[in-house]
Amino acid sequence: MTISKDYRKELRDAAGNERIRLALARAIKSYRTNTNNALKKFPHTIKMAEEVKAIKEHSIQHMMALARKASENIEENKGKAYIAKTAKEALDIIGGIVGKGKLVVKAKSMTAEEIELREHLEEEGNEVYETDLGEFIIQKLGSRPMHILSPAIHVPREDVAVLFSKITGQELPPDIPTLVATARKLLREKFFKADVGISSANVLAADTGALFLIENEGNIRLATGAPPVHIALVGLEKLVPTLEEAFKVAEVTWRYANYGIPSYVSLISGPSKTGDIEKVTTYGAHGPKEFHVVFYDGGRTHLAKDPVLRQALYCLRCGGCLYECPVFSLTAGYFGDKYFTGIGAVWAKEVTKNLEKASSLAYTCLTCGRCKVRCPMKIDVPEMILKLRKSIAEPE
Ligand code: SF4
Repeated sequence: MTISKDYRKELRDAAGNERIRLALARAIKSYRTNTNNALKKFPHTIKMAEEVKAIKEHSIQHMMALARKASENIEENKGKAYIAKTAKEALDIIGGIVGKGKLVVKAKSMTAEEIELREHLEEEGNEVYETDLGEFIIQKLGSRPMHILSPAIHVPREDVAVLFSKITGQELPPDIPTLVATARKLLREKFFKADVGISSANVLAADTGALFLIENEGNIRLATGAPPVHIALVGLEKLVPTLEEAFKVAEVTWRYANYGIPSYVSLISGPSKTGDIEKVTTYGAHGPKEFHVVFYDGGRTHLAKDPVLRQALYCLRCGGCLYECPVFSLTAGYFGDKYFTGIGAVWAKEVTKNLEKASSLAYTCLTCGRCKVRCPMKIDVPEMILKLRKSIAEPE
């Protein structure tokens, strides 16, 4: 199996699309400047990334044990924890908690993208709002994310203005602050009316059951804090043993994701509670009364057994490699499936099980290794691609 015809056409169309090139050229320039400045200001991050790599290597070997330990701690904190082996199991668990006819506000989550959670909840008769600005744009365009951190990276401001003008019925200028204010107005009341908020986690500490959510917009705080129920869908690769290690993973992630320091880091370990009246702990104060964490395997424990391909699980989802990829810089997420570029080929084959896409991605990757240089985990994408091509060409 090599590159499919449809995929070749998609890539050619994307590479010839001036709007994509314009949006990406702007984004790549600001990402490089921001990240280089952040690393210059906080040079210890480079050494810390080496420590984080060792933490991830250890954790990936013990994902199930860490999930069990985290589950015990979440239950002790009065939350509920579940371990889902397959996408269907995860969808059934989350669908069962949400129910039907509910209003759901959702933070951006690649794991949710993997299992098509929004689509599933909508099919069940729920109204689901993406609350990350980029994801909101994508949802309203009826498109799909084109970057793991900036889903609407391929959409220039002029196109966002046209979209938002259509939604509001007012002619809006291609002025970024105006567009951001419009999204704020459109989504504000949804957070407070929602029955359920859904998030993922950037990292989760098994010793406490505490999950970390890194963000700048404030939508995650609202989505996980305002509704009465919070559900977190967490890939098993996000687990690390301790809170101290989780802090290190979080710091390296946000630094390589463009920021010296993000506006918000939420640390959530259970439902909201108070002991303010006679020191009697009572659950359901101002935040959610229910806290559910669904750990998701979906092929990760199988992938962890492969000595080369398991590197894909070390990924922090900082998005840095995508900005360095020569193919991505022309085609955005058209060089991808649910995940993108060379590393996306591994996720497509081993996790989302899209062999056709995996093959197309594996053969489109130039194996130039620019991604490895930028990657904080020094993930050897060319090495993985060569192995993947071999396994696609000669299946066992
Ligand atoms: S592969 Fe490396 S650079 Fe790319 S998103 Fe993952 S951690 Fe970041």
